[in-house]
Amino acid sequence: LFKYKYRNLRSKSAPHEIARDYFDENYPAYFESDWFSIRCAMLSRKKYCCVLNNFISVKDYEKNLIDSGAYDFVGKMNQNARLECALLEAERDMTIKQIQQLQKVEPAADSEETRVTVNSALELIDKHQSILDQIDIYKGLSKNCSNLRAYVYPRADITEFKTSTVIENKQWIHQSYLLDAASVLPVLALGPEEGDDILDMCAAPGGKFITMLQHVQNQARLVANDPSKSRGQHLHGVLHQYLPVDYDIQDTIKTVAFDGQYWAAIETDCYSKVLVDAPCTNDRLSMYETEKNTDNIFCHLRKNERAKLPELQAALLKNAVQACKVGGTVVYSTCSASRWQNEFVVQFVIQDLLDNHNIICELEDLKPMTNLLKDEFNFYPNATVGALVQPHLEANFGPMFICKLSRTT
Ligand code: SAM
Repeated sequence: LFKYKYRNLRSKSAPHEIARDYFDENYPAYFESDWFSIRCAMLSRKKYCCVLNNFISVKDYEKNLIDSGAYDFVGKMNQNARLECALLEAERDMTIKQIQQLQKVEPAADSEETRVTVNSALELIDKHQSILDQIDIYKGLSKNCSNLRAYVYPRADITEFKTSTVIENKQWIHQSYLLDAASVLPVLALGPEEGDDILDMCAAPGGKFITMLQHVQNQARLVANDPSKSRGQHLHGVLHQYLPVDYDIQDTIKTVAFDGQYWAAIETDCYSKVLVDAPCTNDRLSMYETEKNTDNIFCHLRKNERAKLPELQAALLKNAVQACKVGGTVVYSTCSASRWQNEFVVQFVIQDLLDNHNIICELEDLKPMTNLLKDEFNFYPNATVGALVQPHLEANFGPMFICKLSRTT
């Protein structure tokens, strides 16, 4: 009671307390009563996923993972997408039969019966087209990142992964990379493929970059950019820990350090896929005490930087779309649940590109992907733009916002 009564008199200058207060004030309007359980999850131990290193043999390590109850959620998604395809194909065949049957009906001139038949046929034709579109989406998902193996423990299982290193050709090399499973989703949304030219605009420390690399290996060209010197060094360190020394990265991997806000001044219409994993308030981390106050973006000294985040994020996304080729894909992600950093940034950029650069971007529907992943993740149910992984005690991943845009002009 004493604590409660005097809670508000205590100095609240610690950045993690400012962050908690800020979220308590702003997030209930968005999450409604779910906010309290989301808050609880964000203050509890988060879960990881384990991305296997395809550059070395990890047979025994993978067997141990399976024996301990973990499963590859990307492989499961691919398999469920194939099942969904088979179901849709059966529905398509049935619809075609129904259309053929209606075509056999002899039209009686201008009767009510004829009107009903024609309307039913038109509805079936629309349904047939929508089934064909869905089959295309699920076919894509069934092959999406199929070389990637990302293991998780089932919902509510809080077993932790152990990292492991082996010696290959006198070099210590990691068998897996541990990261928040929600961080794999921007990569799945981007769907890197053989022959792609991919730009990771905010790449350090490299979790998503390493994940993409595990899928495409040397079958696509990848550029990892990050202007921060220290974080860039971290990225080099990560590459060194995962790629064998004799692996030639010259032709396929490039690391650069530009300010993404001015990317279009150097390159436009260059990449088939661009990932913008933007700097953000990093909600989960901000709620914890840090060694140095300035590590947390909610500290007083970083107030202006925090206020300017949406501006920076919009500039990064805008330049990413300009760097992308017509017909290419851009994925924007943050680890914040703030609408100002997520959907408002995306909506602003789509309008700005149209008004000032004559560039049309279309929002891609992520529902087929999130439907296939609902065993592993809790998604915010009322998302109007993209998808948001909502932390939950039983599936403690995220928050992670993901939005997929395709450039059409
Ligand atoms: N994608 C990374 C991963 O999966 O490990 C995490 C990226 S982190 C959320 C955001 C990154 O954006 C930081 O490393 C930061 O240095 C970088 N960044 C900040 N300002 C930038 C800018 N103007 N242009 C490009 N990157 C920037």
